[in-house]
Amino acid sequence: MDETIGNINRIIDGYEREMVEELKNIIGIKSISPSSGGMGESKRVEHLLPLLKAQGADAKIYSYKDETGTERPSIVATRGAAGRTIWVVAHIDTVSEGDPAMWSTNPFEGVEKDGRVYGRGSSDNGQDVVAGIYAMKALGAAKAEMKYRMGLVLVADEEVGSKYGIQKLLDEQGVFGKEDMFLVPDAGVEDGSEIEVSEKGMLWIKITTTGKQVHASTPHLGINACRHAVGLLDRIDTDLHRKYTKTNKLFAPDTSTFEITKREANVGSVNIIPGKDVSYIDCRILPDYSVDEVLEDVKRLASEAEMRTPGLKIEVEVFQREDPAPTTDPNSEIARLLGKRIREQLGVEPKTIGIGGGTCAAFARRKGFQAAVWNTTGEVAHSPDEYAVIKHMMGDAKVIASLFV
Ligand SMILES: [Zn+2]
Repeated sequence: MDETIGNINRIIDGYEREMVEELKNIIGIKSISPSSGGMGESKRVEHLLPLLKAQGADAKIYSYKDETGTERPSIVATRGAAGRTIWVVAHIDTVSEGDPAMWSTNPFEGVEKDGRVYGRGSSDNGQDVVAGIYAMKALGAAKAEMKYRMGLVLVADEEVGSKYGIQKLLDEQGVFGKEDMFLVPDAGVEDGSEIEVSEKGMLWIKITTTGKQVHASTPHLGINACRHAVGLLDRIDTDLHRKYTKTNKLFAPDTSTFEITKREANVGSVNIIPGKDVSYIDCRILPDYSVDEVLEDVKRLASEAEMRTPGLKIEVEVFQREDPAPTTDPNSEIARLLGKRIREQLGVEPKTIGIGGGTCAAFARRKGFQAAVWNTTGEVAHSPDEYAVIKHMMGDAKVIASLFV
C-alpha cells in the first residue's frame, strides 16, 4: 500500500473513539421524515454543520420546504481545490423505529456493545455519514495531495423518495460539475465486496375492480368483483412473465419480477358477493425495459376484461413508480477506482452487481453521472435492533478517504 494511504489509515484509526461517539450522538438526534410522523432533519444538520466547519471543510446548507411546510436541509461540503470531484452521498434521515417493543435498546440512544453501535439509523446511513465526515477530516490532517476534490453530501429525504434531497440538489446550478463522479455508501454486504452499478425500475400498480354486491345465493343479480379481479390478476401474472423474459447477469434474480402482493379486505361475511376488490402488484423491471411498456400491458388487459363483462369497472392506478436509471459501466473510472481501494483496504475481491432499486445513485445516473453504490453492512436497515459494526465504519472511512489520493 502506498505511503500516503498508510498515513491516512493511521490517522483514521486514531479517530476511532471520536467516530463511535459521533455515531452515538447522531442516533440521539431524531431525523424522521414529516410524512412518517417526524420533524425532519434540521436538528441533525444543526449538529453536523459545525463539525464539518471545525475541520476546515467548506460546508453549506441547501434547504427546501416540503408539502408539510417543513424545511428539509442537506449539507454540501467540499475539501480540496475546485476541479473534478467525487461526491460521497450519505443520507441523514432515518425511518421510524417501528414497534418499540421489538427493540432490546432505546432506538434513539446509541448503545455500544460487542464492537457494534445499536440504534435507529446506525447502519442506514449513520455509519457512512460518520465515515464520510472523518474521511474528509483525515484528508485535511494528512495534508495529502488530492487527485480529486472530495465532496460530501449529507442528504435529507432519502427514505421517502428523495424529492427534497438529492433530486433538488442535482437541479442546483454550480454544485456538481459535468465530469464529477458519485459514491453512494448506502447498500452493500458484510465483507464489503459488492459494488452496485445498476438498479431495476420499480412499479407498484393498484387495481380497483368494481362489480355489484349481492347475496351469495343470488349471483345472477350481481357482479362478483373478487372473481373478476382474481381472473385478471392471473392473466396479468401469466402475460407479464411470458413477455418480459430478458435476463441481466448483474442482478439476482436476473429477470424482471412481477408479484401480486397486497389485497385489501373485501366483505365481512362469507355469504356476500363482493362488489369491490382492491389488489396490488409489485413490479421490479430490468433497465432493458421501460416502465411505461409494462403499465400499458396491464391497462390493456384490464380494459379487455372490462369489455367482456357489462357493468364491470376496472381502474388501474400507479401507486408508486421509479423508472430504471442507466447502468453505470462496471469499467467506469469510479467503479474501477473503488474496486482497487476495496481490494487494497479490505482484502476482498470486489464484484459489480445490480439491485432491486431505490438508492440516491439512480437520480445521479439519470443526470448522466457515473455512480457506484457500496458500503460494508449486513441486512439490518429498517429492522428492530439495527446496528452498525464499528470495524465496518472504520473500513468504510479508509476506503472513502483513499479514493481521493
Ligand atoms: Zn439508506
